[in-house]
Amino acid sequence: MPELQNDIGHGKETWPVLRSKGVGASGGVPGMAEHDFNSAVGIETKRLLKGKISSYEAQPANSNDVSLIRRTNLYNARYASKKDSIGMSHHGNAGASATRGFGVFYWHDHAPSKKLAEIVLAEYKAEFPDLPIWATGLWPCIPDTWSEFHMTKATKAPFVLIEWEFFTNNAARKLMLSSNYRKRCGLVAARSACRWYGIKFEDQPAKKVVVEKVKPNPIYSLDKADRIGTVVIGKEPMNYRTEPNIKAPILKELPAGLGSDPKSPVHLYEIKGEWLRLGTGWISNADNAYAKVTLYPKKPTPPKEEAKKESIKEEKKLLNVAIVVNSFADMPAVHKLSIRLGCGIYFREAVKTKEAKELIIAGGGVKGLDKFADKITDLSGATRKLTDDNVDAYMKKLK
Ligand SMILES: [Zn+2]
Repeated sequence: MPELQNDIGHGKETWPVLRSKGVGASGGVPGMAEHDFNSAVGIETKRLLKGKISSYEAQPANSNDVSLIRRTNLYNARYASKKDSIGMSHHGNAGASATRGFGVFYWHDHAPSKKLAEIVLAEYKAEFPDLPIWATGLWPCIPDTWSEFHMTKATKAPFVLIEWEFFTNNAARKLMLSSNYRKRCGLVAARSACRWYGIKFEDQPAKKVVVEKVKPNPIYSLDKADRIGTVVIGKEPMNYRTEPNIKAPILKELPAGLGSDPKSPVHLYEIKGEWLRLGTGWISNADNAYAKVTLYPKKPTPPKEEAKKESIKEEKKLLNVAIVVNSFADMPAVHKLSIRLGCGIYFREAVKTKEAKELIIAGGGVKGLDKFADKITDLSGATRKLTDDNVDAYMKKLK
């Protein structure tokens, strides 16, 4: 039987004892311990999978926290004997009070984990078509960034970390406190696991929760080539929004000082007025007061047409010597000379400005060319043969 590594985020002591991973009552909605929610989802997932897929919890439900390293060691030991196992870690998200939505994390370059994440997202959307999704819902865990999660990084099986909703948002927490939502999250997890293995899953759909529709968030490029600099967040935590607009939904809160460690740079992709895009979201940096921006040096841009012309003129000034011929028939005579001097050959009619300090004329005589050079050497002979002889004599003198 295939196995699900059914991970239950955190432990029962984290909230309220350790004042972490939970929130007090607000907006008329009671407080919540994240581990309570994670346990309920994990228990329901296990129950629904019974007889189809075995499930293994390195962190027991409603128990004290097992360290992340111990958890991943246990999961990897299971994986060693069950190479077809997969994993899901259940969580509730925390952020700014306006932020909400479902999101699933996977290790950025592990294709099977990404595939599993896509399945979970698709099953979530099918079960909750009217509930919000956090950005695109798919979150790659990227090394040296805030999303470098131990659970997705250290596990060997295809593994996802699911943020089922934000308990820091009152409406979302109200949902997360309901047994209906908890059970249906378990259902999404169980259906996803069955879909992964191609196992048929049948159950009665629970009553739908009616929630207002939410506008989908824009998709931004995260290409390395599109990075234009780095950013260090100042002394205040900053709201990270879906769009460069103070009314746009908040994805999360970025902590003060984020990006100050050079090992974990915060990459800057775009600037729009006072707004900075750091990956998939934006922060406002009015009067440059909230974040320090370091731009990468600009890529050299090709010079404008005028500048190009100027540089060609400059090159012409640098020419020391050029050969001028009367016609194509004079070319053989000066061929060797041009190679010897490393200079160009001009047709008389083409010389309309000063081309070089010295002009060597081989055919046709000076005839007005003297105004185009400081020095003229006329090797033209009365016949082509005499011109050849003059060129030969000139070359001998050069030796
Ligand atoms: Zn958590």
